[in-house]
Amino acid sequence: MKHVCEKEQCTGCGVCSAVCPRDAVTIKQDFMSCYALIDETKCIRCHLCEQNCQVKHPLETRCPQKWYQGWAENNMRRENGSSGGVAGSISAAFIRKGGVVASCTFSHGEFCFSMAEKEEDVSRFSGSKYVKSTPGYIYKMVLSYLEKRVPVLFLALPCQVAAMKQFIPQKLQGKLYTADLICHGTPSTFLLNAFLKQYGTTLSKIDHITFRKKNYYQVQTDSARIVRDRIIDRYMLAFLMGLSFTDNCYRCPYAKTERVSDLTLGDSWGSDLAYEERRQGISLMLCQTDKGDELLNDSDLHLESVDLQKAIQHNHQLKKPSLEPFERKRMFAALSKGLKFNTSVMLSIPVKCIRQDIKSLLQDMKEVFWRKR
Ligand SMILES: Cc1cc2nc3c(=O)[nH]c(=O)nc-3n(C[C@H](O)[C@H](O)[C@H](O)COP(=O)(O)OP(=O)(O)OC[C@H]3O[C@@H](n4cnc5c(N)ncnc54)[C@H](O)[C@@H]3O)c2cc1C
Repeated sequence: MKHVCEKEQCTGCGVCSAVCPRDAVTIKQDFMSCYALIDETKCIRCHLCEQNCQVKHPLETRCPQKWYQGWAENNMRRENGSSGGVAGSISAAFIRKGGVVASCTFSHGEFCFSMAEKEEDVSRFSGSKYVKSTPGYIYKMVLSYLEKRVPVLFLALPCQVAAMKQFIPQKLQGKLYTADLICHGTPSTFLLNAFLKQYGTTLSKIDHITFRKKNYYQVQTDSARIVRDRIIDRYMLAFLMGLSFTDNCYRCPYAKTERVSDLTLGDSWGSDLAYEERRQGISLMLCQTDKGDELLNDSDLHLESVDLQKAIQHNHQLKKPSLEPFERKRMFAALSKGLKFNTSVMLSIPVKCIRQDIKSLLQDMKEVFWRKR
């Protein structure tokens, strides 16, 4: 088996697999990476996979022309969004104007992509999934809409937007609109499953999963209670500390102020707006092109000015990729010895874990105290 690009750099975007005429390329995952492998018995040496690889041929990026902070005017959209619900608002407006939206959803145990043709379908995209998603067949699907002259908004991670732009022929890109997320990295789904297994479940057994409710980061599924309210579980602790991303994320060429998309969405960290607004979620929007501007102007958004330099200071992915913490190796070494996910995280960042455990214990004690009174 041969790699399409260096394993440590591969984003697992899957474009190589989509362009292969012989189905010779598959995307594999392990704890530390997500990578494309060529089955040499099927390969006809056409090199289409390498020619379309965005790691081998990085895409052009552009400086933001305009920047804002804000939120969806629709309260429900704002509430359901991870930050200000802007993704949902621009998606709905795009469909109202006659387009379709391709984005990430959780379905049948996978973080896959699907198309929304109706405004009511947009809600299935809402919320950040802090894990590796697999675009798979969405490239060909988007292509088929563009060939029928239907405008498409592709909303995804920066490496996936780069992959889509690499895949779609230049002459069809006029109707392709792209929005990427500021992304500090994605863990492999293997890690998420290792975490869930400890609570008697796996991705294939659940219908619903969330990772965040505004400023509270916690994995919640429909079937298993993981930790108490407001306690950060081990999966999210490892994520927030940057321990759990796949290898390529620490080398991401798209983690910078110049962006690969028309519009970039993220959290407006460091915002000086009132606490009440911050509590409800504020998005940061960076607009690189006229198309990005159009997406914002057509949507039902509350927009405010923002200090770009301050926003960059508070969001280091707008300057450089996440640094690989030294504790990461410790965590993966423990996992490879067969230790449980929570134990491996505890051995790597004990102080952070103990702090959450004490918080949880205090909540237990408070509950017992109130029950006894
Ligand atoms: C892995 C990851 C890391 C992030 N890191 C940062 C960060 O460091 N700093 C920052 O400011 N913001 C980060 N974000 C973005 C942030 O969490 C919000 O998604 C963003 O602010 C938009 O919020 P919203 O309320 O407008 O939309 P939301 O309701 O959150 O919708 C987000 C949109 O992104 C899509 N999406 C969600 N998860 C994935 C995924 N795994 N792969 C592909 N598409 C996905 C959804 O389908 C939806 O269309 C990250 C997001 C992800 C998924």
